[in-house]
Amino acid sequence: MCAYFGRPEPRLVLIGEYPLWDEALAALNRDLAATVPDQRPLCLIAYPESGDLDEQVYVALSNGEAHGSSLMSGKSAAEAVMAVADAGQDTVTERLWRVWPVCTVHDLGMHPRDVDGTPSWWCAGGPRKGDPAHIRAAIGELDTVHPPRRPNRKRPKARKPR
Ligand SMILES: [Zn+2]
Repeated sequence: MCAYFGRPEPRLVLIGEYPLWDEALAALNRDLAATVPDQRPLCLIAYPESGDLDEQVYVALSNGEAHGSSLMSGKSAAEAVMAVADAGQDTVTERLWRVWPVCTVHDLGMHPRDVDGTPSWWCAGGPRKGDPAHIRAAIGELDTVHPPRRPNRKRPKARKPR
């Protein structure tokens, strides 16, 4: 547990307390399971209200360690997915010291981006021209993305006209 001085202990948020965040977390955990199979699912923890502060909810590792800011209550399911993905990515990156999730085509960390209302993983793309930024998959659907073809097998290159 990451106990902060003078702060009460966090509690585990139970399924059903925050339905939008439950669904968002389920989507994020699908992506985690698809890409880091040895990692146990993320969970929600809450610090009780104190003073002027309402209860603060964080996305945490299964051992209760969290990093980054608390979740802001959004109105839509898409907002919830964006918020949970952002927070979960912070926690995984800072607590596990790894870039996550990684675009397997470009070996780059991806970021949540709202694409016409669909929360998605965005990759900055390759350094070469013709290898632009792209959307890898909707958040929660990384398991539908197939790994790239064997990297050591070269595809025939289009010849450049001289
Ligand atoms: Zn990429």
